[in-house]
Amino acid sequence: MKNKLTVYNSKARKKEIFEPIHEGRVGMYVCGPTVYSEVHLGNVRTFVSFDIIYRYLLHLGYKVRYVRNITDVGHLTDGGEDKVSARAKLEQLEPMELVQKYSNMFHEMMAIFNTKSPSVEPRATGHLIEQIEMVKDILDNGFAYEQNGSVYFDTLKFNDKYKSYGQLSGRKIDELFSETRDDLKNQDEKHHPSDFAIWMKASDEHIMKWNSPWSVGFPGWHLECSVMSTKYLGKTFDIHGGGNDLKFPHHENEIAQNIGCTGVEPAKYWLHSNMLLMNGKKMSKSDGNTISPYELFTGDSPHVSKGYSPMVVKFFMLQSHYRSTMDLTDQALQAAEKGYSKLMEAAKALDKMQHPGNGNETENNKKLLTTIDNIISDMNDDFNTPKALAGVFELVNFINKLKDGHLKYSDITNEAFEKLKETFNQFVFDIFGLKDEVGSQEDGLFDGMAELLITIRNEARAKKDWATSDLIRDKLLEIGVQLKDGKDGTSWSRI
Ligand code: AMP
Ligand code: ZN
Repeated sequence: MKNKLTVYNSKARKKEIFEPIHEGRVGMYVCGPTVYSEVHLGNVRTFVSFDIIYRYLLHLGYKVRYVRNITDVGHLTDGGEDKVSARAKLEQLEPMELVQKYSNMFHEMMAIFNTKSPSVEPRATGHLIEQIEMVKDILDNGFAYEQNGSVYFDTLKFNDKYKSYGQLSGRKIDELFSETRDDLKNQDEKHHPSDFAIWMKASDEHIMKWNSPWSVGFPGWHLECSVMSTKYLGKTFDIHGGGNDLKFPHHENEIAQNIGCTGVEPAKYWLHSNMLLMNGKKMSKSDGNTISPYELFTGDSPHVSKGYSPMVVKFFMLQSHYRSTMDLTDQALQAAEKGYSKLMEAAKALDKMQHPGNGNETENNKKLLTTIDNIISDMNDDFNTPKALAGVFELVNFINKLKDGHLKYSDITNEAFEKLKETFNQFVFDIFGLKDEVGSQEDGLFDGMAELLITIRNEARAKKDWATSDLIRDKLLEIGVQLKDGKDGTSWSRI
């Protein structure tokens, strides 16, 4: 019996049956990257996790609007400087030039990992008007106050009315001493340390600033996500996601802003992915415990013995549940490399296999159908990719046994075989989003060789060396490649 999709809702702190607000449609918002530097492998893990969630929702037949923003303003360093403009000064670029550079690199990396593009990818600087409008609404509702040109969210007043500030992250308002990253310089302007800026007056040296009713300034980091999620998905939408380091203060403050503005909770389900570790420690730049995706691909890092391809890294990511930490080690990557190639070999073998028809409902047939059902149940259980992947490997065993003759086609029905083929391909390629790197490399090699032989044959023909020209044509035909001489030169096709 297949179960329904359940998701772990961080806000409710339990698994809940997934029921979208509008039948058949899902609105999902995921906090995107701050584009001030190269994307690191931890970011990749989070976006790959949500890509698989997106792909699975599509697979279940939902019409999904997936919004993932680009943060290009308002995310401040601990010293209170905008991350984008600080880096732009360093690289001697106009801030938007820097944003473009790192957005392009981010998109390249997402393509390398074969993730799908979101439906909408809004930028914070493209939504200044809406952010100013939201600040006005929150002020009108009495949940914010202005101080010297900056506007602060009034957490105490909000909590008096809704009693919910701190609920997502499990923090009590009295214990909250400002951990906010946005405005350490301006603590004295706040009524309470847990208040946070939704609009900030800019100093003279601050580059990225805009006109507003309160000052020439810039929006607080948390505000952009409240604005862009509700602009594209409505006041209340289905899923809000991000890494679990964003629970506080970012998501906690988003919820407060949304309720302070509209009176309703923004998201029905809050999904948080866990952190990437390396050799058991949090991947972090400050203690050198970091590796960039490119260093991992080339092997140019003391942390790995060799390079690993993007799909091997992705396979490795699938082996941990998105809510568990994931520990990157050279040993684990070596195992993932073996697993990935075993999976691709099985995919190729399955592609060539055909059931002769009929077949019996044996114990093996029953086992195969149960395995398929379990894979679906595991994925329905809060997107449990490690368990679903283990199930897919049970299918690999079936495939290999059929190939070697250890399992007879007559022992499984034609229908079960087709189900095996469909489930295997759907999970490996459509849901997990893996692709056959080895196969495509071999295809590239094949294309290159065929072109090379055509060039050699053309040179032979120019010299009227018909013997060589015919030899190449005939030998290629023998291995299933047909050459055609036409007006525009010679083309080839597989027969
Ligand atoms: P940022 O670019 O810092 O705004 O982060 C973009 C996304 O990556 C957020 O959802 C973060 O939670 C996530 N993230 C940051 N560091 C890690 C890490 N070490 N492991 C997993 N996700 C991370
Ligand atoms: Zn966000």
